[in-house]
Amino acid sequence: MRQAGRVVATVLDILSRRLKAGMKTKELDIIAAEEVTRLGAKPSFKGYRGFPANLCVSVNDEVVHGIPAERILRRGDIVSLDLGAIFKGFQGDAAVTVGVGEISPKAGELVQTTEGALEAGIAAARPGARLGDISAAIQNYAESRGYSVVREYTGHGIGRQMHEEPQIPNFGLAGTGPMLEKGMALALEPMVNVGDWHTRVGGDQWTVLTADGSLSAHFEHTIVITDGEAEVLTAREGVYA
Ligand code: MG
Repeated sequence: MRQAGRVVATVLDILSRRLKAGMKTKELDIIAAEEVTRLGAKPSFKGYRGFPANLCVSVNDEVVHGIPAERILRRGDIVSLDLGAIFKGFQGDAAVTVGVGEISPKAGELVQTTEGALEAGIAAARPGARLGDISAAIQNYAESRGYSVVREYTGHGIGRQMHEEPQIPNFGLAGTGPMLEKGMALALEPMVNVGDWHTRVGGDQWTVLTADGSLSAHFEHTIVITDGEAEVLTAREGVYA
């Protein structure tokens, strides 16, 4: 799982650096497939429940599950990139939201808050804590800053399958739910909206958008519960060092 995580982190880094205005979102999908394969792994989203691409690309008011296609990225857009890879039978899954060139202060604050919510969730992921402690940490971080957390989509256990038990909502009550134990592998993934938390599914039957059209951001890491702080398997260079 460490190797799968490293592949995902490396490729998300490459995509974040290559992404620029004027690019079609499907170009990112091609790069993702090439780089995952070059690193000896296999993209895991393609064909998952019929998803047609290797990478999810969700722009601005798109929350998750955007299908990379002909859309052209513009300066000021925020782009969520979600990637899964399988290496020797084990899964890695992570997401980042990056700006195209300079983004508005409002968008920048949303992106920072969403990444902060993920960090708060990771900090709560300790042995002896409850699953609800993670959910509550994410929710409190985002809502205390005036944002909402998406409720219809959740984080998840991960291992040989991309989506395993338990579901990990981005909202909930501290002190509730299953006990966290050393060795559990979890994908935490806050989706945070500027406006209301409600979402809708677009005409392609995949893309999830905010119901009110407000901006949304998404960060995800695959982590493992250890004796102390959780180990982040999809840590990017220089982050969570
Ligand atoms: Mg995931």
